[in-house]
Amino acid sequence: MKKLLVAAFTGMLLSTSALADVTSADIANDTATTGDVLTNGMGQHLQRYSPLDIINKENVKHIVPAWAFSLGGEKQRGQETQPLVHDGVMYVTGSYSRMYAINVRTGEEIWQYDARLPEGILPCCDVVNRGAAIYGNKIYFGTLDARIVALDLKTGDVVWRKKIANYKAGYSYTAAPLIVNGLVITGNSGGEFGIVGEVQARDANTGETVWTRPVIEGHMGTLNGKESTMTGTLNATWPGDLWKTGGGATWLGGSYDADTDTIVFGAGNPAPWNSWLRGAGNPKGNEGDNLYAASRIGMDPATGEIKWHFQTTPREGWDYDGVNEVVAYTDRSGNKRWATADRNGYFYVLNREDGKFVSATPFVKNITWAKGIDDTGRPIFNDAVRPGDPSKAIDGKKGETTFAVPSFLGGKNWMPMAHSPKTGLFYVPSNEWGMDIWNEPVTYKKGAAYLGSGFTIKPLFDDYIGSLKAIDPDTGEIKWEVKNNAPLWAGVMTTGGGLVFTGTPEGHVKAFDDETGEELWSFQTGSGIVGQPITWEMDGEQFIAVSSGWGGAVPLWGGEVAKKVNYLNQGGSIWVFKLPKQLASAK
Ligand code: CA
Ligand code: CA
Repeated sequence: MKKLLVAAFTGMLLSTSALADVTSADIANDTATTGDVLTNGMGQHLQRYSPLDIINKENVKHIVPAWAFSLGGEKQRGQETQPLVHDGVMYVTGSYSRMYAINVRTGEEIWQYDARLPEGILPCCDVVNRGAAIYGNKIYFGTLDARIVALDLKTGDVVWRKKIANYKAGYSYTAAPLIVNGLVITGNSGGEFGIVGEVQARDANTGETVWTRPVIEGHMGTLNGKESTMTGTLNATWPGDLWKTGGGATWLGGSYDADTDTIVFGAGNPAPWNSWLRGAGNPKGNEGDNLYAASRIGMDPATGEIKWHFQTTPREGWDYDGVNEVVAYTDRSGNKRWATADRNGYFYVLNREDGKFVSATPFVKNITWAKGIDDTGRPIFNDAVRPGDPSKAIDGKKGETTFAVPSFLGGKNWMPMAHSPKTGLFYVPSNEWGMDIWNEPVTYKKGAAYLGSGFTIKPLFDDYIGSLKAIDPDTGEIKWEVKNNAPLWAGVMTTGGGLVFTGTPEGHVKAFDDETGEELWSFQTGSGIVGQPITWEMDGEQFIAVSSGWGGAVPLWGGEVAKKVNYLNQGGSIWVFKLPKQLASAK
């Protein structure tokens, strides 16, 4: 309790100072300092947990809007952002690479920045942005033309702007950057265009590149402008030349663990999707595994050297990107762990020290592509569900179609889960769906989709696809589940008040009991929620914020799922909630 009071006091101090520079210590302490939200994930462990309990199980039913803010213009579409709050200002990124600074007490705009994107950008899965990073007197965010921009916190003026990669080759950028020891660390997007996944670190003040680390075997990293080391061993798991356009987009940003001084990034699908083109795929050997695609990769933040990797889906062939967020936590026995809920339908626990496999349990129903995960963490493939080799087809054009569960959009996609150190549980936004998938011939062409697959996504059950689950990481047991008609696509947050917050495509922001899953509060925001809720404390009151604005990958890749979402309206707004003053001060 004492700790909480100190944290609350520190938070109040921060919120009364005048646009103070954000330090590495501020970032390291972000979870405990409840007066601000400085990092994506509400702390670099990405737990999305706040100790705040002013709003709790008893009074959450009374919370009401404090203000709402429109992201304006004709540029609506998916609003997947996580707001940041610092010194009385909320910073929000919007679709089409825009950013807003908003007076957090009044909801009035302070400044707005529009990246003014060039013609011909190639975002695969809507024109979203997932948030910014604050450090010093600047705020950083990535743009859809594969650039990283540093803006002055006070004015929104551009301080520096750097190219991550060539958007004409299919690169883009949507994730929130990660700040570690004065470096701005970014990944890249474009895994459906035969790009090469990479992590880059820049000096936060100047934007100068410090190191780069491609995540596909055979490519060379750099450090201080010179070649450093090769990623992996050339041709060890990628026969031939396909590694040169091997995918593995690092499109979801990273987490940082100070205890082990490790950053972790995930890498997406190997390219192209057709796995028969990428090697033999001997389930007992490494050939055809296609490292480090569909993997989580632990790296040294000072040099970009790879410390460890864990591949969730070797010789991946269903678009099970391995990018989902890796959350650092301590289990009930005191072991330091990582947890991640993969696109492939399994919830993994890894050892935080060396990334070694601890356990894997299914978190969605009726998984078909694997029969399970063995003692080493490797999937036991169900060969009947590997889409057929098109070169063996009678017409040489379309391989045998299989029905894979989960669908390529995953048991869980990008939308982040939350972990409560109070309950020990993870709160995972998941989806129950499958797909017909088949392979086709394909050749690489710069800037063109590079799949070699076709697919039709299908619900598994009549009455729901979305499923918010509370998972015990020690056992894999699902403690409770809340079903939702449309697929879930919003982030989750949990609090010391015993609450779990998330939103639905149908437009509701909701609060659930963290122990039972009972719905305790709901509010209709007017458009679908695919954003990431946050909470903070100001003037003795607790606030909740979330973006509303339907979009993202689901409406673009709908298949038979489209029926559940095609009536939903677009939007673009930020909603902020709090208790009525008389109730808040009565506490
Ligand atoms: Ca904080
Ligand atoms: Ca992908």
